[in-house]
Amino acid sequence: MHILLMGPPGAGKGTQAAELVKEFGVPHISTGDMFRAAVKEGTELGKQAKACMDAGKLVPDEVTIGIVRERLAKDDCKKGFILDGFPRTVEQADALKGILEDLGLSLTRVLNINVPAADLIERAVGRRICKKCGATYHVKFNPSKTEGTCDECGSELFQRADDTEETMKSRLSVYEDSTRPLIEYYQKAGLYTEVDGRQAIDKVTSDLVAVLKG
Ligand SMILES: [Zn+2]
Repeated sequence: MHILLMGPPGAGKGTQAAELVKEFGVPHISTGDMFRAAVKEGTELGKQAKACMDAGKLVPDEVTIGIVRERLAKDDCKKGFILDGFPRTVEQADALKGILEDLGLSLTRVLNINVPAADLIERAVGRRICKKCGATYHVKFNPSKTEGTCDECGSELFQRADDTEETMKSRLSVYEDSTRPLIEYYQKAGLYTEVDGRQAIDKVTSDLVAVLKG
């Protein structure tokens, strides 16, 4: 059960990863968490990554790959993992293959939660969040009973500054440019499966589970 989970920003990857963790009992390994852990543990690679981030520089590939290697070598990954946020390029995908080979492992499946850009933009632009309790709503798909007011606590709802059409369009175009070659890479490897991320959350989960059990 060594899974790579892909999906554009806003496709619900975090939510689905959490469901898969519950279903299969394997760790969810996201790049962000991995970096934070390496920095916190003060590993040599963690120190190098922190120095780059503090200087506002991109973390070099060899450091990123090294951090992934250290994480995947830990005991809890032996029976499986859900990897998220890495690889982002074909070069990194090759590196991942090498890391897994060294560990005597291989990817079971690459799952992509596919949601068309237009849907992601609509989701983001209509999202409203409670200032106080963090409850989320959507003006069309999940409206609060009173416009602009939280059903849970009665506080005011707001729109996040980056939930705009412009921001989403630029994030999505960056994502698509970088992932298109990866999709082809994993299609060629016979590992790629796409799930329709426009469906209800629990239907997306059951589709993902069905692919992995099938
Ligand atoms: Zn609230």
